[in-house]
Amino acid sequence: MDCCNSSNVATEAAICPGCKAQGQDVKIRTIKHWLKTPLVPLVPETAFRFCETRDCNLVYFSADGYTRYAKHELRYPVGIKEADPSLAVCYCFGVTPEMIAEEIERTGGSRYSTWIAKEVKDGNCACDVKNPAGRCCLKAVKDAEGAERER
Ligand SMILES: [Zn+2]
Repeated sequence: MDCCNSSNVATEAAICPGCKAQGQDVKIRTIKHWLKTPLVPLVPETAFRFCETRDCNLVYFSADGYTRYAKHELRYPVGIKEADPSLAVCYCFGVTPEMIAEEIERTGGSRYSTWIAKEVKDGNCACDVKNPAGRCCLKAVKDAEGAERER
């Protein structure tokens, strides 16, 4: 299955209680993969959103606003929510902004997004659980490439 073709566009408006930005739909399966173990059995069966704002401390929140999970409640730091270039932006293939910057410096360009797109096409990604946002990381990789090129 090509996990990057499923549409993960927010179906109803759900604003992050932390930063007031629009949250993205995320599956409970993804949240359970990322939360610290003691929290996993306590996740309510309700619609959840992912907040991608870097400076916002909340990562997941329920659309009804009752349940919130902050950065410290996750097992690992979330790359797109931290300023650390050694953290992955593509979780399936472990690509970091640092790797992209290194390739641009060495060759003048980055082929990571092209390479990842091919791997995705070949069915080698699992963004629905490996990416904390539960969706394809290609956009985040392209954003990172754009940011590095502008340096
Ligand atoms: Zn937020």
